Amino acid sequence: MKNPIFVLGSVNIDHVLNTPALPRPGETISGQGYSIFPGGKGANQAVACARLAGKTRFMACMGSDAFSDSLVQSFRETGIDTSLIEQIDGCNTGIALIFVDQQGENCIGISAEANARLTAEKVKSREADIAAAGFLLVSLETPLDGVFAAAEIARNNHTTVVLNPAPAQPLSDDLLGCIDIITPNQTEAEVLTGVAVHNFSSAEQAASVLHGKGIGTVVITMGSQGAFISDHSGTRMIDSVKVTAVDTTAAGDTFNGAMVVALAEGFPIDEAACFANGAAALSVTRNGAQASIPTRAETDQFLN
Ligand code: ADP
Repeated sequence: MKNPIFVLGSVNIDHVLNTPALPRPGETISGQGYSIFPGGKGANQAVACARLAGKTRFMACMGSDAFSDSLVQSFRETGIDTSLIEQIDGCNTGIALIFVDQQGENCIGISAEANARLTAEKVKSREADIAAAGFLLVSLETPLDGVFAAAEIARNNHTTVVLNPAPAQPLSDDLLGCIDIITPNQTEAEVLTGVAVHNFSSAEQAASVLHGKGIGTVVITMGSQGAFISDHSGTRMIDSVKVTAVDTTAAGDTFNGAMVVALAEGFPIDEAACFANGAAALSVTRNGAQASIPTRAETDQFLN
């Protein structure tokens, strides 16, 4: 039986302007290309879950701007239950303004906008929905009080709490104490534990700090190396699938979505990480964020 997955998190719209060089203060520069991409860790993870055939509900706050209706429609077409996405009048959807020069160097301004409205109060009003889920998948681009409220509700109702602690930031012991599975990348693991993670033994040290906070399962994603796991059965590395990477945007989001889908289907953590390595490897062979996330059929075929 499939357990429903509840994703709580951010939605961003990325406006990307390709320019010959990055503009200097006071300078106006002509673009050579302009694109609008859907992004935000919450949205990327919800899309990953749904595309990989997880029964997915996404709670988010968006604006009432020109892009939000079509974005919600595209989430729906991906198979996401969008009934808990609130489109707030007079508000903008979260935004990133990105200049990219010819060397691929970038300069980014972001604003949380509607994402800042996903507060504890709002989350608590959906207590029954969170309690009904098998898994809660949360990241850190929305207010921490809302993330904590969701994790506490889940913990009290035997919903498994998976935290992708991105973007990197220190977290309270109270929040960490509500987490069942944490999935930092190497940078995030260092910010959370003070241990620089560059190999298996430093990953073990970082994991033991996180176990000390009450977290049962630590999965540290290590880019092209794959994923390190530490839990009650010990520590081990689940090797990545070798590919030629062209764009690693949303690799972590794809990994998290895929891992939770496999766990919700009842697979043990090692098999879930294997599946997630496969989906994430496929995503790094393609450009873009949500556009790079593979379907279930593509992932199954790739791994067989
Ligand atoms: P993030 O994208 O959050 O920084 P990582 O860089 O650790 O996270 O990547 C997440 C996962 O994506 C890895 O655990 C791995 O499964 C996959 N991945 C990332 N880069 C590569 C790569 N070059 N080749 C194969 N798989 C990769």
